[in-house]
Amino acid sequence: MANPSILILAGDGIGPEVMAEVRKVIAWMGDKRGIAFDVSEDLVGGCAYDAHGTPLTDATMAKAQAVDAVLLGAVGGPKYDKLDFSVKPERGLLRLRKEMDLFSNLRPAQCFDALADFSSLKREVVAGLDIVIVRELTSGVYFGEPRGIFKEGNERVGINTQRYTESEIARVAKSAFELARRRSNKVCSMEKANVMESGILWREVVQEVHDRDYPDVQLSHMYADAGAMQLCRWPKQFDVIVTDNLFGDLLSDAAAMLTGSLGMLPSASLGAPMANGRPKALYEPVHGSAPDIAGQGKANPIACILSFAMALRYSFDLGDEATRVEKAVEKVLADGVRTADLMGPEGGTPVTTGQMGDAILAA
Ligand code: ATP
Ligand code: MG
Repeated sequence: MANPSILILAGDGIGPEVMAEVRKVIAWMGDKRGIAFDVSEDLVGGCAYDAHGTPLTDATMAKAQAVDAVLLGAVGGPKYDKLDFSVKPERGLLRLRKEMDLFSNLRPAQCFDALADFSSLKREVVAGLDIVIVRELTSGVYFGEPRGIFKEGNERVGINTQRYTESEIARVAKSAFELARRRSNKVCSMEKANVMESGILWREVVQEVHDRDYPDVQLSHMYADAGAMQLCRWPKQFDVIVTDNLFGDLLSDAAAMLTGSLGMLPSASLGAPMANGRPKALYEPVHGSAPDIAGQGKANPIACILSFAMALRYSFDLGDEATRVEKAVEKVLADGVRTADLMGPEGGTPVTTGQMGDAILAA
C-alpha cells in the first residue's frame, strides 16, 4: 500500500520556520517509528503570489484535493497589504477551505499544566483543561444572502443573513458526535434558539441527528451567550462544543485565551469523507504569519507541531502516535523549556524555534 500523503504549504512569515520543526517530527516518525509519509511541498499565500501572481495556483489546488492531509503554516504579511483583494495571500487559504469544502473546524483548547499560571484565569479554573470547539466553517451569517450595504429611503442599511440548511447543520453535528465518541462522549450545542429562527432549526436538527444516530452520546443545549459565560466561569464542564460559524469564531477565541499563548494552539478543518473513509483535511496553527518576529528564530513551533499531531489522529488513525507527540510537548514545558512568547514576567532565557523542536524530539 502507498504511504499516506501529506502536502506541506508552509506559506509566509514564520510559517516556514515553524514548519521546519514539523518536518523534523515527520522525519523522526519515519526513522524511529517506521511510519513513513509521502511528503510534497508547494506555495501558498504571498510567496505563491511572488512566484505565480496568484496566492494559490490551480495546480496546487489540485494537489491539495488529492492528498490525505494538507499541513499549512501561515499566510500574509505587510509586504502584501496593498494588493488587490482578489490576489491577497488570505484568498489562497479561503479558496482551499471553500473548494475542499472544509465545513467542520476543530479548535482544541488544552491547558498544559506547566502553563496554567499563564492563563488570564485562575489555575484551578484552567489546569487540566482539554476541550474542543467545533465551529461550522462554510455557511451561516458570513455567507448568507442577501448581504450588502443598501439605500433605504435616505439612509444606508447594512445587511447580513444568517442562513443554515438542515443538511449543513446535520453534517457538522455528525462530525461533533464522531469526535465526542473518541473523547468523553459529551457534546454541548450552542445557539440562540430564543431569538433566532436559524437557532431553533439548529437545536432541532442537532437533537434529531443525536436521537437517530448517536443516542449513546450525552447531548446538552445552551444559549451561546450563557455558553460564553460558562466557558469563562468553569470551562472544564465541557468536552466538545458544537456551534455555528459566528458564535464559533467568538467562542473559540475566548477559549484560546484560557490556555496561554497563541503560539500553542493547533486547529483542524475537516470536510466530507474521502474514498478511504477519512475526512478531507487541512491542519494549521491558529496563529498568523507574525511578521513582527519573522526571520528571527523566535517563533514557537508548538502550535504547528500539535496541528501535525491532530493530523496523525484524524487523518491517519494514529492516535497513539499523536499522544506521543503531545506528551513530548507536555514534558518539555514541564522541564521549563520556553520560547519567548511563553516567558512570564520573571524572565529567563528563551530557546529558539529550532531548539524547541529539538527538545520535543529528544523528549
Ligand atoms: P493573522 O491576521 O494572520 O491572524 P495576526 O496579525 O492577527 O495575523 P499573528 O500573526 O498570529 O496575528 O500574530 C499576533 C501576535 O502573536 C504577534 O505579536 C506575533 O508575534 C505573536 N505570535 C503569533 N504566533 C506566534 C508564535 N508561533 N510564536 C510566538 N509568537 C507568536
Ligand atoms: Mg488574526
